[in-house]
Amino acid sequence: MAEASISSIRIFRQWQPFRDGTYRCSGGRSAEGFDSTIIEVTSRDGNRGYGEMAPLGSFYDPAFAAGAREAMQELAPQLIGCDASGIEALNRRMDLLLKGHPYAKSAIDMALWDLAGRRCGSTLAAMSGGAEGSSLPLYRSIAQQAPDAMAARAEKYIAEGYRRLQVKIGLDVDEDVARFEAVRSAVPGGTVLFCDANASWGTAETRRFLMATRQFDYVLEQPCASYEENLAVRRATDRPLVLDETIDGADALLRAISDGLVDGITIKLARVGGLTKAKLIRDIAIARNLKITIEDTGGAQIDTAAYSGLLLSTPENLRQHTVDFHNWVTVSNARGTFAIADGVMRIPEGPGLGLDVDPDAFGEPIFACHA
Ligand SMILES: [Mg+2]
Repeated sequence: MAEASISSIRIFRQWQPFRDGTYRCSGGRSAEGFDSTIIEVTSRDGNRGYGEMAPLGSFYDPAFAAGAREAMQELAPQLIGCDASGIEALNRRMDLLLKGHPYAKSAIDMALWDLAGRRCGSTLAAMSGGAEGSSLPLYRSIAQQAPDAMAARAEKYIAEGYRRLQVKIGLDVDEDVARFEAVRSAVPGGTVLFCDANASWGTAETRRFLMATRQFDYVLEQPCASYEENLAVRRATDRPLVLDETIDGADALLRAISDGLVDGITIKLARVGGLTKAKLIRDIAIARNLKITIEDTGGAQIDTAAYSGLLLSTPENLRQHTVDFHNWVTVSNARGTFAIADGVMRIPEGPGLGLDVDPDAFGEPIFACHA
């Protein structure tokens, strides 16, 4: 058995309550925290890598925590003995063994990158293209509430140093205009605003919002669910447009590029199947000078280190922002030096994800398999 072959895999579960209470989306959807699954992959030489996947409830993407755990338990035994350093080959193997379910593969792929970095002494940013600069701009998302409550939340985040805010819209258009107005009026000039409808609107609602907010400076994110609706919106407006939910793989981005649909994209690791596939999408976006956000659907330190490491190796002029998910929750899953000041984040600089993970802190694994 080669030194880099996978000798054991363990899977853990961690409940991560939200620091700011219930997270609400349109239609009464809500979550109290992230139901995270953490995976540990050990190679024969004794190195370990960690990955994490946490959906936002079961309502955000076609992904749910119990499904991730089941799929990971099905895949894990079939990866024992494989060469952990052949990450792309292992991705192809996972796709061969389990059709779809990219969210379940994301944590495994993440653990393989962490393991590879630890084995060769390189950071994820170095392995994924080379770090540009040393810090990443952060945004905070302002969930849907009454306009004054959203304005108060925006002021809180500004006071904490954030300079990029994502206003959640996608309900009643008039009320959403009032929400956006309340937030916009409450924040200092120069604050970067995104309005994210999370695929909730049709073209009619989107056009009405665009008309009512025409004089303001903001970026519109994922107004509609279907590709065709977003394309119709694109052709009717000069507003910068970012797609998030639509970008579920390289195919979706290639099509959007050929249609001139997007000015920027949001890549979520769990949606696309992990760092390896996110890097491919990222690199296609770089080739067309699209603005790039790399983040995920949830998690704590392990997940934050992964998506922010990939974003750090993305050209600085193309970076939009990312999130500090580990600060959204009241528990930790690793020690690492994240430093946040003035709305930017510095990330751990050690090999792999740069984290110190103590698996004993998670309690008994829910699953384990060995060579
Ligand atoms: Mg979004």
